[in-house]
Amino acid sequence: MSDKQLITTIVGTQWGDEGKGKITDYLARDFDYVVRFQGGNNAGHTIVANGHTYKLHLLPSGVLSAGTVSIIGNGVVVDPKVLLEEISEFKKTNSTPYLKISERAHVIMPYHLPMDGGLSSGQGKLAAGSTGRGIAPVYADKAYRHGIRIGDLLDPEMLKEKLEKSYTFNTQILNKIYRLPFDRTVEDVYQEYLQYGRELAPYVADTELELYQAYAMGKSILFEGAQGMSLDPDHGMYPHGTSSNNVAGYAEVGSGVGLNCKSRIIGIMKAYVSRVGNSPFITELTDTTGDAIRTKGVEFGTTTGRARRIGWLDLVQARQSVRTSGLSEIAFTKLDVLGGLKELKVCMGYEIDGQITTEMPASLSKIRRAKPVYQTLPGWEDTSATTYDTLPPNMRDYIEFVEKKINCPISFISLGPDRERTIIR
Ligand code: GDP
Repeated sequence: MSDKQLITTIVGTQWGDEGKGKITDYLARDFDYVVRFQGGNNAGHTIVANGHTYKLHLLPSGVLSAGTVSIIGNGVVVDPKVLLEEISEFKKTNSTPYLKISERAHVIMPYHLPMDGGLSSGQGKLAAGSTGRGIAPVYADKAYRHGIRIGDLLDPEMLKEKLEKSYTFNTQILNKIYRLPFDRTVEDVYQEYLQYGRELAPYVADTELELYQAYAMGKSILFEGAQGMSLDPDHGMYPHGTSSNNVAGYAEVGSGVGLNCKSRIIGIMKAYVSRVGNSPFITELTDTTGDAIRTKGVEFGTTTGRARRIGWLDLVQARQSVRTSGLSEIAFTKLDVLGGLKELKVCMGYEIDGQITTEMPASLSKIRRAKPVYQTLPGWEDTSATTYDTLPPNMRDYIEFVEKKINCPISFISLGPDRERTIIR
């Protein structure tokens, strides 16, 4: 591994579900550490490896590589019940995961789940399309400064003190504003979470310090982003997004290691786009082509099972992602899914009120009025090629066209869920 590759960050360039899990798993074997730095169990990766299909929500993809340390960083929010279930499920087919959890990561509490429902209920057209896992309320608690952190679960006195504050605030809002019941007593929640603390204790560590020391010693670290740029609360289609930043810069905040610009940053980009939940979707395909792509690409959510909306590749979105994450390269995934189409479209820009723009507007009302400006390219047949030069010429033209338009090299080509269906260019 070259020096430049020692620190690598992987992020989604679209709305998530780009195939980050596969590429992370593909690369993870060579890394000393794999680190999740944001999001929670609202994310979901599907990884096909060693003849098994693994659905990971909170465990970093590094758990599948023996000898790699997987870290749940401080920027992640952890539902301890879900994490313990995932660990126990994982142990059925593997040994105990080599996992460390930051003491500073915030904890999803049982009242955060109904709070999510309450929040979503009144948002109508502006709803984010929440997965209902309590993610927005726990990040809000962090900002309100009454969040509970993983380390608190191991400290009975501190947990009691913080829980009184967090429980009272949240249950009052639930009962008085949303008129939703929350029947559990503070003591009941306290005992349950103390028990989670006991079970998670072997994994809890000062991961920020450990990562800093690993970085200083020249160990290799892979940062694994969840979701995708258009869901980022700053750079995405706010408010139709998630509650944690997922552009590459957040890897430093969410893991506690200053990288001093030394990072290879790989954006995972699907050959088309998909989205779950609400928001304008400028290149959406609501016809039989969209249905065929959804079926062939198995575009149903890992976490929620929801059918994903499908659309043509959007280069306005892709360019914004190259810019906001400082991408050094792209892994282009699911090109196999488009095999068999006679022709395909690529969105070059948006027409808004008669003007054409090639940059993503910040204004939601402009995004709502935007119409796609397409370029049509010829399709290709299904292929079992394993080298770049033997790919169908139209597929190579598509790859090279996109690369040129977004001004970022495409270095990985993914043609199927298996590790073997990956071409490095
Ligand atoms: P993530 O959240 O970005 O990791 O993406 P998901 O795991 O939710 O969705 C990606 C899905 O596509 C998974 O089921 C992968 O196994 C699958 N996948 C990844 N890369 C490819 C590819 O190149 N071709 C095909 N057909 N499937 C892929």
